[in-house]
Amino acid sequence: MKTILFHQHGGPEVLGYTDFPTPEPRPGEVLVKLHVAALNRLDIFVRNGWPGLKLKMPHINGADGAGKVAKLGDGATGFEIGERVVINPNIGCQKCSFCLSGWDNMCRNWHLLGETMRGTYAEYVSVPARQLYKLPDDFDFHIAAGAALAYQTAWHSLITRGKLQAGETVLVVGAGGGVNTASIDIAKFSGTQVLVVGSDAKKLEKAEALGADILIDRSKEENWSKAVFLATNKQGVDVVIDNVGTTFMPSLRTLKKGGRLLTVGNSGRPKFEIDNRYIFAKHLSIIGSTMSNLADFATVMDLVVAGKLKPTLDKSFPLSEAAAAQEHLWNGKNFGKVTLDIG
Ligand SMILES: [Zn+2]
Repeated sequence: MKTILFHQHGGPEVLGYTDFPTPEPRPGEVLVKLHVAALNRLDIFVRNGWPGLKLKMPHINGADGAGKVAKLGDGATGFEIGERVVINPNIGCQKCSFCLSGWDNMCRNWHLLGETMRGTYAEYVSVPARQLYKLPDDFDFHIAAGAALAYQTAWHSLITRGKLQAGETVLVVGAGGGVNTASIDIAKFSGTQVLVVGSDAKKLEKAEALGADILIDRSKEENWSKAVFLATNKQGVDVVIDNVGTTFMPSLRTLKKGGRLLTVGNSGRPKFEIDNRYIFAKHLSIIGSTMSNLADFATVMDLVVAGKLKPTLDKSFPLSEAAAAQEHLWNGKNFGKVTLDIG
């Protein structure tokens, strides 16, 4: 099969477009012929590598993918050859206490497609059958692949962990990324008022088109937490979604008493200082999570397929141009999901 792979960590130059043996589905697995893969910043972190990350080289990037069932492994049931599917890249063992109680994103033997195992920048990938969600015949593979990681992550954070309620006020810090655009979409679907802080007028315009109610341009408002405070009649917000990290202090300042800060990642530095007085004196909660469980994935994909949630797509590149696609994403030139056309 054709694939994009790397033999050592490094910049986009380590990615090579080459042939690699097509995987054989193991018992319980389904081989998927991929038509579209979607990018995540995670792909670039994995390509760059981090201390302690030990990959079986060569490695194939990519958590998100959609395509057609190509072959069933022994004992894999419920699918027919040619059926259209999207992959849930969050892979639990289905044996540990977390998996058995429905929290497979907290699995003791957790795997993520494209991180701890070879991923979707390829013509084929083999995954356990339970990781597949069936798509309607006419559903766009780009939308499906673009939704999988970002929407399950945002849904789990906002709804399952953050317990977002209609009528609440939500601030999203950052406008362009896949999880943040998914968060705006899910927050509006949930009947909340949404504020977005962004550094780029064009991205804020697009956030408004997604339904954001109040836009704050960080390049013009040096003290954006004060701008949020004033925009909410000096009330503050119930929930802040902060996947930057280094902005936690201004984010904590924007919260009402009893407010929640939700985080699923850090696009900025992972280490920074927090003034603890804000947390106890304002009765704040900081709620972290990553990915979602099988139940949340099915729920959010049902809403995507029904058109109630609408993933934002940016640009699509051919598989062979994955390096350029990663640069486009890394440089923040995207609004929404960057995808790869595999054929
Ligand atoms: Zn498990």
